[in-house]
Amino acid sequence: MSGEMKAGKQDYIFKVILIGDGSVGKTSLVRRYMEGKFGADYLPTIGSQIYTKKVVGKGETKITLVVWDISGQPAFTAIRPEYYKGAAAILLVYDLTRSETFQHLDGWLSETKRYSPKPEVVLIGNKSDLEARRRIPHRAGEEYASKIRAPFLETSAKDGSNVAEAFATLADKLVMTIPSTGTRK
Ligand code: GDP
Ligand code: MG
Repeated sequence: MSGEMKAGKQDYIFKVILIGDGSVGKTSLVRRYMEGKFGADYLPTIGSQIYTKKVVGKGETKITLVVWDISGQPAFTAIRPEYYKGAAAILLVYDLTRSETFQHLDGWLSETKRYSPKPEVVLIGNKSDLEARRRIPHRAGEEYASKIRAPFLETSAKDGSNVAEAFATLADKLVMTIPSTGTRK
């Protein structure tokens, strides 16, 4: 009996994607989280990369996040449906030093909804280390987040601030959806 419970708790796997304008820091956030690194020692994303990480969410529930990172370059258009397909959760990212990246969030969100009906969303204002260049006040991020009913965090892929917390928040939201959207391995 307890064996069955335990097996059930360890068997959930979720696809996670990052969306947002180019250069907001999507690749940097994934690399910081997955590899603990930040730097210009890598090429801008070419094609796609897929990372997996086992995490423990609410109630000690063990899940696996499969995080897809993909280029936002023109070739992206062709593979876009594959990228979105089956995404259980989305990190919706803007750069808090560039207003247009914040203004484009609605567009990203509506595109997302065409492909994945009800993903869990976490809103991320990245580059919090660049406080002197901030254009989007923390409050504006909070207000948008409450409008779309998403948790909100400001992160820095550069200094690591709130990056693990962002993925943990997402993992917790995913755990809450089990078993309705949990996909058995
Ligand atoms: P992507 O196009 O959204 O994947 O963005 P990248 O991860 O390639 O980052 C774009 C640029 O922003 C790169 O030069 C990164 O080094 C830089 N960058 C990413 N995150 C941060 C951050 O938190 N703080 C600072 N200062 N720069 C960042
Ligand atoms: Mg990238």
